[in-house]
Amino acid sequence: MSHKCFTNDKCPYYPCHAETEGEDFNCLFCFCPLYALGDQCGGNFRYTSNGVKDCTNCTLPHQGEKGWEHVMKHIGGIIGMAHSVKDDPGNDNGEKLC
Ligand code: SF4
Repeated sequence: MSHKCFTNDKCPYYPCHAETEGEDFNCLFCFCPLYALGDQCGGNFRYTSNGVKDCTNCTLPHQGEKGWEHVMKHIGGIIGMAHSVKDDPGNDNGEKLC
């Protein structure tokens, strides 16, 4: 176990995806933080006929420390999205952003 990877084999959903070949199953990113990147997340997604992004076949975030490295490589896109929302003068929905 490290800060990059842990496995929670007591989780009732474990393993929630197909096994990760040759890697520990990483539960750190149980909900993938890259989902909001749409088709720029670098994962194995598909879009359903209703336009919903389906990550069922993606094991990337769960591939041991490689999963952590993949998320860190793309997390800048999420940070950029947060900055663009904060800096958008058209963002006048009454919510205060930090
Ligand atoms: S689980 Fe995979 S396909 Fe889904 S957002 Fe994360 S990296 Fe992309």
